[in-house]
Amino acid sequence: MTKPTPYRIGIDLGGTKIEVVLLDGDHHTILRERTPTPRQGANLYAAILDATVGLAKHALAQVPGGESTIGIGIPGIIDPVRGRVINANATSLIDKAFRADIAQRLDRPVAMENDADCFTLAESLAGAGKGYAMVFGIIMGTGVGGGLCFNNQIFRGRHGIAGEWGHIAVVPDGRPCFCGNRGCVETLLSGTGMAAAYQRAHGRPLAAEAIVAGARQGDADCRIIFDNFLEDFGRCVGGIISLLDPHVIILGGGLSNIDELYDTGAERARRYAFHPDPQTPIVKNQLGDSAGVYGAAWIGI
Ligand SMILES: [Zn+2]
Repeated sequence: MTKPTPYRIGIDLGGTKIEVVLLDGDHHTILRERTPTPRQGANLYAAILDATVGLAKHALAQVPGGESTIGIGIPGIIDPVRGRVINANATSLIDKAFRADIAQRLDRPVAMENDADCFTLAESLAGAGKGYAMVFGIIMGTGVGGGLCFNNQIFRGRHGIAGEWGHIAVVPDGRPCFCGNRGCVETLLSGTGMAAAYQRAHGRPLAAEAIVAGARQGDADCRIIFDNFLEDFGRCVGGIISLLDPHVIILGGGLSNIDELYDTGAERARRYAFHPDPQTPIVKNQLGDSAGVYGAAWIGI
């Protein structure tokens, strides 16, 4: 007799919200809720831990018999040797045994992966990456992340950092990055990066959204900043194509809504790739905001 397919709980820990889904054995969503991510307080880590465990327990309470896998996506990486969080832009998580602490509080094992990896896995299994063997997922939002899937499985690499192209340092005297380097891809291709480029050139702040809108309306200052952004996108994504030659590149995060990335940006990326006529599709995600939390559910143990 085959074992019934288990229920799956996925939790996506983001900078502004923590989201949970509960899927039944047929992958139907039977619960989906979110709570704000604690952002202040004397013990921020304890507050994030409490909020995450609280959502997991709430979902577990809906599962008949209480048997479910649990997977969690985090804005960081679990060091495979020490089991502690590294590379988190949510710095209160850094060096914490977040996975072990949650497993202990829930008294059951939990899987934990980088949120960009969860995004890439979800898009590989059920989104824009379906049918492609090697999928490179890009998150462009407040930061820049990336993930790599082969045959619907997350490829982690030796240190768990495979796909972290956002911290390739490409401008020697560029803006300082939270990772300690200067001029990382993240300082160019994030929303804050585009805004900072405008501030530097014109001495006053303007949000990325307003820059894009201004460029479309013909504002000369905005057009220069936006064109440089698309050029940086082309150069950096062209490098990914040359390095890995993925079958598809999928964009997610707030900036993935910029339509010009899929024509001008994609054309430039293919021009920068080391091939006379690369065919790499550079496409928008299909699962939208849901990719991270469903990817988390599908990594569950
Ligand atoms: Zn960096």
